[in-house]
Amino acid sequence: MVLKEYKKFAYEDVPVPAAGPGEVLVAVKACGICGSDVHGMDGSTGRRRPPIIMGHEAAGIISSVGSGVAGWAVGDRVTFDSTIYCGQCDYCRRGLINLCDHRRVLGVSCEDYRQNGAFAEYVAVPQHILYRLPIGLAFEHAALVEPFAIALHAIRRAPPTLNDTVVVMGAGMIGLALIQGLSQTGCGQLIAVDVVEERLQTATTCGATSVVNASTEDAVAAVLRHTQGPGADLAFEAVGVSATVDMVLRCLRKGGTATLVGNVAPRIEFPLQAAVTRELTICGSCASQGEYPACLDMLARGALRAAPLIGAVAPLAEGAEWFDRLYRKEPGLLKVVLKP
Ligand SMILES: [Zn+2]
Ligand SMILES: [Zn+2]
Repeated sequence: MVLKEYKKFAYEDVPVPAAGPGEVLVAVKACGICGSDVHGMDGSTGRRRPPIIMGHEAAGIISSVGSGVAGWAVGDRVTFDSTIYCGQCDYCRRGLINLCDHRRVLGVSCEDYRQNGAFAEYVAVPQHILYRLPIGLAFEHAALVEPFAIALHAIRRAPPTLNDTVVVMGAGMIGLALIQGLSQTGCGQLIAVDVVEERLQTATTCGATSVVNASTEDAVAAVLRHTQGPGADLAFEAVGVSATVDMVLRCLRKGGTATLVGNVAPRIEFPLQAAVTRELTICGSCASQGEYPACLDMLARGALRAAPLIGAVAPLAEGAEWFDRLYRKEPGLLKVVLKP
């Protein structure tokens, strides 16, 4: 499924990519549509420049291996990191692979590179980004490991201690993955904030102990009420605009910590005095940094659950239609997984 021009797909035959040295060819069995694909297909982000085969949340079966590949064989069930990191730069050598100086994201074409992704029957990926699927984990569920890994990385940036009150701002894909992950950490109250009632219902299914609809009530006042005054110990921001970052910082107790994951707006208004005089800690969190094995294990054990987040599973041939439905923000439609 090739993005031929902005907002226009073609479902057509393209040459099968070759597995180069150190690479494997994966027969894709499932690939999730990411919000960044939907935002990117109209040209607004500059990171999906046509022609490009998008798709970076995938799982499949190895169908051939290139020269120099060790430990992987035809028939292995795998998923892979959405980011191809170089493994050589100073950040990679320190294990900070999400901060790699030469990172390329699958299914992205921007000013610096073009890397075809997994909305196709086959995708070639380097062996060092592969992960083996646990027995019994379905491809459709494994395709969601990437957003869960993003959530787990954010939690590891500022993990709750036992019985901490935690706020998750935004109950979209990442927010819901955060709620699931946080509910495994021993935190106390887990409060989800969103403006869409359906999403808040899903947040409850995912483990939120209470929900706040910010379109009908003052979210900060609600969090203060839930904590009987002081505010939350931790908050995770999974939207990324001025209003939600402001709410997150104001719903924290003095000395609390905000982890910022959402980044829709490149610049925001910032409540400087609320942050400085109340000694807040603010962490940025980007992509993931080795959380895939933990996520795959948690998915296989049912500690993380992909099913509540999947809105539809559909053939890749219908991909353009599903992109359109997501682009038009069809209410209640969360993750769509396409199968070649
Ligand atoms: Zn993604
Ligand atoms: Zn690197």
